[in-house]
Amino acid sequence: MIGNTSNEITCDAVTGLRDWKTFFRDVERKIAGGIRAHVIFIQLLQLKRVNRKYGLQVGDRLLEDIGEYLEKLEEGYIAYRTNNSRFMLLGPECSQEKADVLLGRIRERFEDIWPIAQNGERHEVLAKAYFIHFFLEPKDTENDLLEKINHAASVFRLRERKGILFFNEELNADMLHNRYVMEEVRYAAEHKTFRIYYQPIYDCSEGRFVSAESLIRLIGRDGTFLSPGEFIPMAEENGLIDSISWIVLEKVCAFLGAYPELPLKSVSINMTGQQILDPTFIGRVESNLGKYGVDGSRLRFEITERTITEDYAEVRKVMSYLAGKGIQFYLDDFGTGYSNLASMLSLPFEAIKFDQSLIGMMNGTDKGLRTISLLADIMHENNYYIVAEGVETADQVRLAHERSLDRIQGYYYAKPMPGEELVDFLKRDIRHTYDETGGIL
Ligand code: C2E
Ligand code: MG
Ligand code: MG
Repeated sequence: MIGNTSNEITCDAVTGLRDWKTFFRDVERKIAGGIRAHVIFIQLLQLKRVNRKYGLQVGDRLLEDIGEYLEKLEEGYIAYRTNNSRFMLLGPECSQEKADVLLGRIRERFEDIWPIAQNGERHEVLAKAYFIHFFLEPKDTENDLLEKINHAASVFRLRERKGILFFNEELNADMLHNRYVMEEVRYAAEHKTFRIYYQPIYDCSEGRFVSAESLIRLIGRDGTFLSPGEFIPMAEENGLIDSISWIVLEKVCAFLGAYPELPLKSVSINMTGQQILDPTFIGRVESNLGKYGVDGSRLRFEITERTITEDYAEVRKVMSYLAGKGIQFYLDDFGTGYSNLASMLSLPFEAIKFDQSLIGMMNGTDKGLRTISLLADIMHENNYYIVAEGVETADQVRLAHERSLDRIQGYYYAKPMPGEELVDFLKRDIRHTYDETGGIL
């Protein structure tokens, strides 16, 4: 049950609609009577842009007009403005068909323009939005409601979906799975039970393994393997990525400190842009290196373009400072979306990691091969070396050599493995020579 019993109605100053606090109070009233309330959530996507383009007054008028439209939309539904760019509608239980029709009408309205007259000028403003709706169960608590909204919103963000999302059983199961994963991540962060695996990286000209990437591993308390590809983006969303990253940093430095004779030039750690910009980042790196007696030149950081959204100047400062200590950076997952290629390449990276999806192009057409060659030429001309990721077949190894890719990482050579296994692996396989067929001699 939702716990807000106040009788007071509080309103939003711009639209005059009821606000978030009153929304909770009204939800409580609906469900107190055992009614399955229908909740519709409307998230405006470009309010900031509207404000920038037309001015705040037009932005406010738009919100007012939307509020007025929602208020009159359907009998039995109350409209709320619950935060800056979010509206809610709360109505009684209805059939799925009726809900679909109502949502269809709302979407149609938001596809059209909102005419706004301001200082004698008429603006035709678009209010892009997405819509989530669900039936609130009488057993739900305030936290359940918030979790549903947050989960649905993150589904939109992560999968970049547009339009209408009905919070159905599938999404509910998805949410429960996420809750389980986050509980395990939280537990592991608190008890530092993450493990670190290392995947060796082969250098084509030296004919041996020269570096390794550290990759986090998490086994849930019930023995389930949890994939970092899944839990890392969730940890980023939930504010847990900081503590995870600092744990990885310490574990990798401890490993390097424990094996001063490890025959590798360096080991890399994945970091997000957020950590790089954390004011404690440089201090943490230096204190871990000092604590375990590790030279900075043995450490690399990998960052993806996805996690650097702005503040390139600040990121550049941190990278240049650490580069001065021998700690270089790789651009990870290159080829998975490079809208900001020019900005990314203005940062002082030492190497570019070609993503598995790009490497996969080498299996296919001439066009794919030509693209890789061209990209490799551009990178080499700009003095970056290239690491090919996700190389699985002898054919890809051969092509990577032919196209002058500098280093190779992939299941073809080795899967990620625990640190002690890496040490044994490197003892056994210290020298490899590439033969014409792509095999290891
Ligand atoms: P990534 O940094 O691009 O790491 C490479 C991923 O490709 C790893 O997946 C690795 O196991 C996998 N891989 C390597 N060779 C092959 C291959 O030949 N075939 C295939 N199919 N896969 C290959 P993993 O370990 O599941 O990690 C997934 C992602 O999770 C990483 O992608 C990275 O973005 C993130 N991640 C992993 N560990 C950490 C960490 O300690 N911190 C942070 N922030 N992110 C991490
Ligand atoms: Mg990586
Ligand atoms: Mg990668």
